[in-house]
Amino acid sequence: MKILVCVKRVIDYNVRVQINRQGDGVITDGVKMSVNPFDEIAVEEALQIRDRGDADEIVAVSIGTSASQQQLRTALAMGADRAILVESDDEIQPLAAARVFHKLVEKEQPGLVFLGKQAIDDDSNQTGQMLAALWQRPQATSASSFELNGETARVTREVDAGLEIIDIDLPAVVTVDLRLNEPRFVKMPDIMKAKRKPLETIALSELGIDAPPALETKNYEPPPQRQAGIMVETVDELIAALRDRGVL
Ligand code: AMP
Repeated sequence: MKILVCVKRVIDYNVRVQINRQGDGVITDGVKMSVNPFDEIAVEEALQIRDRGDADEIVAVSIGTSASQQQLRTALAMGADRAILVESDDEIQPLAAARVFHKLVEKEQPGLVFLGKQAIDDDSNQTGQMLAALWQRPQATSASSFELNGETARVTREVDAGLEIIDIDLPAVVTVDLRLNEPRFVKMPDIMKAKRKPLETIALSELGIDAPPALETKNYEPPPQRQAGIMVETVDELIAALRDRGVL
């Protein structure tokens, strides 16, 4: 079985994101970029399935500028077999991303597609669901455990009310949550080895996808500064302070 894993280049989760001067985007110059953390978990899960002998090829795929090669090389260093970059300088929103992945799925015919449950830059949580709809295959989102049983998979999902366990037929789309696994540490020899692994580049225009942005961002603003709190000595003072602020 082949597994396709989606790997998005995002601003590293440790960076304090800042809005640019024009207010039409965030500052990315000189900012550390990384693999979307959920996607690293997705790669790890695919590798563990292959290590158990239940998959024979892991293909990491990304859509973005040529700089996304860096994140695909990270996936290759983790252990993915090959990578595909669909190159575009334009902003790619979830529906466009899902259409691109659908094209790749038609070409590659994987048994499983793993994605992150959300990308930490847009926090959309949409691409996996849209891909499953386009592909007309089952989906299991926010997986916190995954078990392959031949032609089906049992997925534990983290939902608001607790955990939900579902069985899905393969091929299927699975989006992964934080507690699914702990991604492996990439060692230097693996980084060197990854440089020789195949990385194919396809121009987005070659795929003939029409998915103009559905969402237009007018401007970005930082959240208002939080006011400093005050210390109170007694419950009466607390109640008075809450009344002053119109909370009570
Ligand atoms: P989103 O729906 O934007 O929150 O993204 C959910 C998941 O879809 C991400 O965690 C990635 O696995 C995948 N994805 C979305 N956009 C891209 C992209 N441009 N390149 C690679 N993977 C992507």
